[in-house]
Amino acid sequence: MALMTGEQYIESIRKMNMEIYMFGEKIDHPADHPVLRPSLNSVRMTYDLAQDPQYEDLMTAQSPYTGKKVNRFTHIHQSTEDLKNKVKMQRLCGQKTAACFQRCVGMDAFNAEFSTTYEIDKKYGTNYHENFKKFMMYCQDHDLTVDGAMTDPKGDRSKAPHAQEDPDLYLRVVEQRPDGIVVRGAKAHQTGMCNSHEVIVMPTISMGPDDKDYAVSFAVPVDTKGIFMIIGRQSCDTRKLEDTTMDVGNPEFGGVEALVIFDDVFVPNDRIFMNGETEFAGMLVERFAGYHRQSYGGCKVGVGDVLIGAAAVAADYNGAAKASHVKDKLIEMMHLNETLYCCGIACSAEGHQTESGNYIIDLLLANVCKQNITRFPYEIVRLAEDIAGGLMVTAPSEKDFRDEKLGKYIDKYLKGNAEVTTENRLKIMRLIENLALGTAAVGYRTESMHGAGSPQAQRIMIARQGNLGYKKRLAKEIAHIEE
Ligand code: SF4
Ligand code: FE
Repeated sequence: MALMTGEQYIESIRKMNMEIYMFGEKIDHPADHPVLRPSLNSVRMTYDLAQDPQYEDLMTAQSPYTGKKVNRFTHIHQSTEDLKNKVKMQRLCGQKTAACFQRCVGMDAFNAEFSTTYEIDKKYGTNYHENFKKFMMYCQDHDLTVDGAMTDPKGDRSKAPHAQEDPDLYLRVVEQRPDGIVVRGAKAHQTGMCNSHEVIVMPTISMGPDDKDYAVSFAVPVDTKGIFMIIGRQSCDTRKLEDTTMDVGNPEFGGVEALVIFDDVFVPNDRIFMNGETEFAGMLVERFAGYHRQSYGGCKVGVGDVLIGAAAVAADYNGAAKASHVKDKLIEMMHLNETLYCCGIACSAEGHQTESGNYIIDLLLANVCKQNITRFPYEIVRLAEDIAGGLMVTAPSEKDFRDEKLGKYIDKYLKGNAEVTTENRLKIMRLIENLALGTAAVGYRTESMHGAGSPQAQRIMIARQGNLGYKKRLAKEIAHIEE
């Protein structure tokens, strides 16, 4: 099958029978719901851009497994060039949506599963790698969007999965059957699940021998019986229900998260990629997290480009563009944003081949990348708010702006640069508000902090990979210390 167009993708999601809840109600037509549709549009962009000849090299790749052209979001990286192109593609998608476009988790899960299943099979003679390859080629052939579900609710953080008072706080196998397994549990903070065709479930932490039931990985269609989603609230989300566009800031694109329940879900044997091999749980987590920490060096940079552009437009509209401190703040924002991009490219360029044949990033540099992501977007947002001014949070609503009596006063008194309409000034303020404090702040701020692992998770990896012993030896040698 050829690559799907954006419209075919939307239709394919519309045909699915997902169980989605929001505001206490079951959503019958999620693809057309005003709160959910912008997030579907963000994923659609990964299909639309792949159809555009000018982005073909970035958005598509040749699959060595199917021999056909595939969307890069379903590709298994064959070189460091592929790794770099991945980051560039994500920056592009961030620029075009100013939101989380969600499809990366599946790509990152693909590449982590590819190498980990290979290594499990080598040790245990299992058939997981073939299972995974079959699934991967099916997704490539049908150009599917795949969610990667890792984060368990985790309950009491001081206790291992098996030691929790409630045994379901980490997703687990509750029944082994001749034809497959039955799993129960939940995955939290799932961006993109409601816009995906399939979901790859992975464990969320390293595990010990007592956690056998929890060391499980598999893929199922997201509308499999027993799976349902409860959509998370976002700041300003109900503005999307108001029948106006200006107040939303980014009327077309967005992202939503869901708490996903797996209520005794059956997984057939050929969709299982790990089942009890506890010592490989940590490897899968580390590799997936590494790839996704690289990803942020692309997507957040693209969104940052939009935010920097919005701040510069706000400065123009406010009549402040020539002030030297404003120019300097924009330079600082660009410096920070490009530093993040450097990290994404560096961990890609320094990648290497795994035993299975695909390519993986340099883990130390990928963790440094994500650690910077937990900080710099906050500073970039701070500077954007500084440049924009208080109007980004005090401006009257679009309904007041359109009001017969009030509109002319808003238009008169909220005008900045006389050559610019008040409407355009308000639009750019709302976009900055959206990225700083509104629905997109989930993706640009809190997701920068906690997505792909919270800051401490990267510090643990930096401690492990940083080779402090070698650095100590260097110092002693330079100082002519003999012990
Ligand atoms: Fe992709 Fe970034 Fe969203 Fe992760 S946070 S799915 S890398 S856009
Ligand atoms: Fe994310």
